[in-house]
Parts: sequence; C-alpha cells; structure tokens
Amino acid sequence: MAHVLITGGAGFIGSHSCVVLLENGHDLLVLDNFSNSSPVALKRVQELTGRSLECVKGDLRDPALLQKLFADAKAAGAPIEAVIHFAGLKAVAESVADPLRYWDVNVGGSCALLASMDAHDCRTLVFSSTSTVYGESETFPLTETTPTNPIHPYAQTKRAVEQMLTALAQTGTWRVASLRYFNPVGAHPSGRIGEDPLGIPNNLFPFITQIAAGRMDKLRVFGNEYPTPDGTGIRDYLHVMDLAEAHAAAINHLLQSDAPLSLTVNLGTGKGLSVLDVVHGFEKATGITIPYEVVKRRPGDVPKLEACPKKAANVLGWRAKRSLADMCRDGWAWQSANPHGYRKAS
Ligand code: NAD
Ligand code: UDP
Repeated sequence: MAHVLITGGAGFIGSHSCVVLLENGHDLLVLDNFSNSSPVALKRVQELTGRSLECVKGDLRDPALLQKLFADAKAAGAPIEAVIHFAGLKAVAESVADPLRYWDVNVGGSCALLASMDAHDCRTLVFSSTSTVYGESETFPLTETTPTNPIHPYAQTKRAVEQMLTALAQTGTWRVASLRYFNPVGAHPSGRIGEDPLGIPNNLFPFITQIAAGRMDKLRVFGNEYPTPDGTGIRDYLHVMDLAEAHAAAINHLLQSDAPLSLTVNLGTGKGLSVLDVVHGFEKATGITIPYEVVKRRPGDVPKLEACPKKAANVLGWRAKRSLADMCRDGWAWQSANPHGYRKAS
C-alpha cells in the first residue's frame, strides 16, 4: 500500500481509477484544476468506497504548489511514493487548433511534475498515454514495438512525454510505465460516476448515451467507406473499470520492482469494433434505438486501431474482462441517472 499522488483524479478515467486504488488500500492525494471535471466526482468516489481521499485544487504547471504537496506530505510522515499522471488535455481537433496549449499543459505540465518528483526523491510514475501515438498503421494488431507515427499535436505531446520518461528511466533511478489506452467507455456499474464531457461530446460513446438521454437527436457516423467490413471506423473499446484495474496492476508492478524500470503497455481488449457494432450493441443492451446518418469522414481519423493485449497480460497480469454489453449497460446506467452529468448534482 502506498501514498499515491493522482493528477487529474477527478476526470473520467482518474475517478474510476481512484475507486479501484482506494479499494486496493492505497492512500490518495488528488491534484486537479477541475478544468474538465467536477469535485462531485470525488465526493462520489468516497461514497462508493467508504474511504476518504485528499484533494487539492490546483494546476499541474504550478511548481510552487507541486513543491508544497511533496514537502507537506513528507513533513506529515507520509511521503508521496508514486504518481499516476492523468491530468492533461485530450481533444484532437482542439489540439490542431491550439497546439501551443497542448504542448504547454501536456508536456510543460508533465515536465513540472517530473522535476518536482525528482527533487523529492519520488521516481515512480504511471503515465496516461494513448493508442493515437500509432497513427495510421498497416499492420494489426498493434504491439508496443509497432512504430509510432503521431499525426496530430495531441498524439505528438503524448509521445513526447513517453520519450521524456524513457530518457529518465535510462538514468537508472526511475520506474515508469506509459500506458497506451485504446478507447475507454462505460462507467462504474453503480451509475454514480461516469464520463461527463463539457458541451457537445467529441467521442462516439458519450454521443450515443446522450442521444439515448434525449440530449442529442442523431448520431453522425463519420464515413462508411473505410477499408473495414462494414465501412465504418474500427476501434478497440474497453470498459473504464477494466482500465482502472490496469492502473492498480501497473502501480503495484512498479512499486514491487527493486530495479529501475521503463514499461510501455497497450491497454485494450484486442477485439476491434466498428461504429455500427457499437450502435447496435448499445441498442441491444438498452432497448433504445439510436438514429444515425452517415456523413463525411472526420479529418484526422484513421480506419482502424486495435491493440495486441498480450504484453499487458504477460507483464501486468491484466486483461480486459468486461464485454460491450457491460460497457453499454453501465454507460447507460450513468447517463440515465445523470442526464446532465455532474452539473446540478451534489
Ligand atoms: P478528463 O478530461 O476527464 O480528465 C483529465 C483531468 O485532468 C480532468 O479532471 C481535468 O480537470 C484535469 N486537468 C486538466 N488539465 C489540468 C492541469 N493543467 N492541472 C491540473 N489538472 C488538470 O480525461 P480522461 O478521459 O479521464 O483522460 C485522462 C488522461 O488519459 C488524459 O491525459 C488523456 O489524454 C488520456 N487518455 C484518455 C483517453 C480517453 O479516451 N478518454 C484515451 C487515451 C488517453
Ligand atoms: N465517430 C462517429 N461519430 C461521432 C464520433 C465518433 O462516427 O460522433 C467515430 C469516429 O470516426 C471513430 C470512432 O467513432 O471511427 C471512435 O471515435 P472517438 O472520437 O470516440 O475515438 P477516437 O477517434 O479518439 O479513437
């Protein structure tokens, strides 16, 4: 059991991971500026687990704040032993429109965090990376040795942080894991926490649940002439609770290692699904029809992303267990109980 700093812990993946980490007995300190999340999520995490966590509102790019967090924890006799770094920006189109902001938050923020960690002898870190670092690949499934080809600033910033971590690990004093998430969806089965995008969702799954909740009228399917069996794009969707469990496995793996370590691990199911597979899976799981129309391709989309999940199983002992039906049922449980997300909630 360790005292772990969770940056971005109030967000979608962070809040679900906090549940699992608290259930695993870790003590958590969350740093979040709530730019894309709500403190209500953390309140509910504590309700769900019956455990409390410490939360500080602040920005990752504030070195004085980071210095204080590490120093205060040490002074209180519970130094921070490891960090799980979720905080960051994740909208591809926004990253194309405003690349500087993405480099500032994702890379500059990570740099500030790593410098503070180093200064306080805390050199164990799990980092949220992304399958989009692979870009458009010709060979599937994607393994961790498939060449990367990040084609937009979001993926480029994530790849840059991975490279920074590899360089740190080469100094022989760090234990780091870059986890390349494929497409996390769904919610905690209680329906108390879930994904709560601001404004119109960019991503397929929250768009579908918001149609079901009556907040959107129909889905726009971005292209049906991709070289895939039904012509729509293929992604490797995984349940966010499976992803949360992978973080517990990763942090435990790093903490148990006596030697320096640098890991890169794909987190997916290994089974790609098309846009229409997800639409029909959701309809089957919930009984709700999702109207859709096919429109032109979204710029920057690749036809297919599908993980090879073997390394995660071999190294972390983790594999995704939950089905598409579970993802749809749990995602809908969250959206139907919270049609406006955390807004107006307590
Ligand atoms: P999210 O936006 O829900 O969570 C990110 C959290 O970080 C939010 O709570 C936000 O308020 C916080 N944050 C942002 N900038 C901050 C800053 N400067 N200082 C402090 N806090 C800040 O996103 P998520 O879906 O939970 O993603 C978590 C991480 O995983 C991100 O780094 C994202 O790039 C990465 N990722 C997400 C996906 C996905 O599909 N959701 C896929 C691959 C990788
Ligand atoms: N997609 C779609 N309509 C939407 C949102 C997404 O057809 O409103 C498609 C998109 O083209 C891709 C898949 O759904 O093939 C997953 O997109 P998402 O944005 O959820 O994830 P990412 O592209 O980041 O993998």
